[in-house]
Parts: sequence; structure tokens; C-alpha cells
Amino acid sequence: MASSASSRLSLVSRHLNDSSPDSPAMSSQEPHAALLIPGPIEFEDAVLQAMSHYSESHVGAPFVSVFGEALSMLRKLFQTSNPASQPFVISGSGTLGWDQVAANLAEPGDEVLVLHTGYFADSFADCFDTYGVKATQLKAPIGDRPQPDQIEKALKEKKYKLITITHVDTSTGVLSDIKAVSELVHRVSPETLVVVDGVCSVGSEEIRFDDWGIDVVLTASQKGIGCPAGLSILMASGRAIETFKDRKTKPTSYFGSWKNWLPSTVMQNYEAKKPSYFATPSPQLVRALHTSLTHILASPLDQRFARQNEVSQRVKQTVKSLGLKQLAEKPENQANGMTAIYLPEGVAATQVLPSLLKKGVIFAGGLHKEIATKYIRFGHMGVSVMDPKRDDIDRALAALNESLSDAGYKA
Ligand SMILES: *Cc1c(COP(=O)(O)O)cnc(C)c1O
Repeated sequence: MASSASSRLSLVSRHLNDSSPDSPAMSSQEPHAALLIPGPIEFEDAVLQAMSHYSESHVGAPFVSVFGEALSMLRKLFQTSNPASQPFVISGSGTLGWDQVAANLAEPGDEVLVLHTGYFADSFADCFDTYGVKATQLKAPIGDRPQPDQIEKALKEKKYKLITITHVDTSTGVLSDIKAVSELVHRVSPETLVVVDGVCSVGSEEIRFDDWGIDVVLTASQKGIGCPAGLSILMASGRAIETFKDRKTKPTSYFGSWKNWLPSTVMQNYEAKKPSYFATPSPQLVRALHTSLTHILASPLDQRFARQNEVSQRVKQTVKSLGLKQLAEKPENQANGMTAIYLPEGVAATQVLPSLLKKGVIFAGGLHKEIATKYIRFGHMGVSVMDPKRDDIDRALAALNESLSDAGYKA
């Protein structure tokens, strides 16, 4: 692997600026640097090809059938067989999932508890504030997560309508133990809904929606699911839907209102293969989603998560052997789909990122505002990890090593 990685490396950097169609690592796509940021990620050819479907009616039988199948496949991806669970696929990015939660499950004046493991909790809290919902953040030091006793104490202090957990915080690479937090919430504050921001985890981290008693997982198309950006994807439990139906006030959004998208109307009709309309969906994106879900579900999910873990371990071992530290120091805090890596003293992201690009690899800079310039982020999700014909990860590790040496760093 290692030797083929370095020869491939020079091959790819040579190919970067030409349009030779035979790039070995990139199949039928135009040669390009491997996009290894924590979303968007690399696409499979078949997913891109699904997008070039001729124009079709959003209420025509062929599209309605594809949409219906995609919704049913989402139940499998989230591991829910409870018929009361309700999937939603709405045009928008992952952020729209926050709006859906804040506008449909909380009412103005409600209290919610936001577990903070990085940047994305601040934004979710800000979203609640926009809808007049009072968010209390429980913060952990950078690279860590709130501890069970702190969460228990917070839940006993106040009655919270819901709690939010960022499954993987994309700014820090911190993984949360959503199973344990959900158990804790059910024990200490059983009425509180358990809401998971899974934008950077669905597809690369295990999620057992029913078994773990989760009420909402919200995600997007462009991260672990491996589709172009543009879809807000959400699974709600029967309990969440009942909470919505029991609202005393109207939903505080129009486009995002579940009243418009709910069971008796649009989403359930699609799943029953009946045409329905509220706000035009994107047939091309839904076809891309259908294709990627079909591929993801072609193998057992356990195998997928085991492979994600194996590759993640390899990345983390290499990072360690280069003498570098992760933001998430404790192994149990480390995500399987990305790694946030502190740069060595004296090496700047503005040196390393362009150098990586020259070697055919794109990483992301830091996002956590207190330390943004001190680290870089490596996304290892989806096809780059799962397709045995691709060597994106090995090339990235070799390129990281070389870029650091180029910057004068010695491990
Ligand atoms: C990317 C991300 C979001 C926001 O998703 P967009 O598609 O950029 O709107 C929210 N939460 C987490 C954890 C993310 O990684």
C-alpha cells in the first residue's frame, strides 16, 4: 500500500492540471484532487450519473416511486422499524434540520438543553434563539464532551422540552455517546425529547434509532451519505410527531412546518407511492439520494461501520506516529469519519493546506473560533473509505507527511 501510495501521489499531482480521462483513482470523473474535508465528500460515479436524469414531473409515477423508496431506505439507514417513525427529505442543507426542530418541536418560551462539543452547538443554540426558544448550553473544554454527571445535574435543575447532542462535531472531530446520553435522559427526565444533530455522523457512525430511544436525527445529503449538498434529511420518532401534534401554538415556520410535510399529507403519500405536493422537490437530488442509499444498504451496516472504524484507526495511528495531537485526545471522544489534527508549533495551516492541494488532496482548515488557525481537519467518510479500488486515504496520509516535511517539520 505505502509504495503504491507514493507513486500514485506523483501521478495524481501530475494529473491535477490536465484533463486526461484515465486518472486511475477517479474513475469516469474528470481528474481532480480528492476532496477529504468533513463534507461535502467525494461522490460515486453512479450518484453523479443519477443527477443527469432527464427532466421529469415531481408528481409523475416514476419520480414518486423513487422518492418513496428513498424514504423507506432511510428507515433502514437509521435502523428504525417502528412504523410511527417518520422520515422527512426536504430541499435545503443540514441547517434546515435545526429550523425544523426549533419550529416544530419547541414552542416560544420553551427551555432546551444543548450539549456543546464545538462550533455546531453554538449555531444550533442560535437557531433556537431565532424562534424564541431558550437554549442553555452545557459546555465542555475543547476536544472533550459534557460528562454524564453534569448532564444529569442539568436535567434535574430544570424541565427541558428537548436536549440536543451533536453526534460528531465537525469543528472538533469529537464524537458523542448518543446511546448513553439517551439512556440517561430517559432515566432522569423521561419527557425530554432526544434530538441528535447527525449531519456529520449519519453514514459513518452507528445509529440505532429505535434501540437507543432517539426522537430526532437530523442530517444532510453531502456528508457521510455521499450525495451532492441540497437535502435536509430527518427522522422523527412517533413521540416527536405526537409532541408536534400537541403544540399549543402554531409552528413558527412556513416552509419548514411539519403541518405541510407531515404524514397525512406529503411525506406519507410519497412513501405510499401516491403523488402529492407541497413545495417542489428536486427530482435529480432525490434520485442521487436513492442511488447512494441503495449502495450504502447493499452491504450490512455493521460492516460499513467496522470499515469506517478500521480506516479511522489507521489515520489516527499515523497522526500519532507523526508526533501530532488530535483535538479529541481521549479515544472514546474520537469520531470515525473525520480527524481534527493540531499542527506542530510553527507550522501554519496556510502553508500546509496549499501544499496538500499540490499533492492532490484537499483538507479543511480549523473551524473552532478559539483555535481555528492551529489545526486542520481530515474527513474520511463514504466512498473514499468504502471503495477498495480507491486509495484516497493512503495518498492523503502520505501527502500529510510530505507537506509537514516541506514545512520544515521533523516527526
Ligand atoms: C455541516 C454540519 C451542519 C450544517 O449543515 P449544512 O449542510 O452546512 O447546513 C450542522 N451540524 C453539523 C454537525 C455539521 O457537520
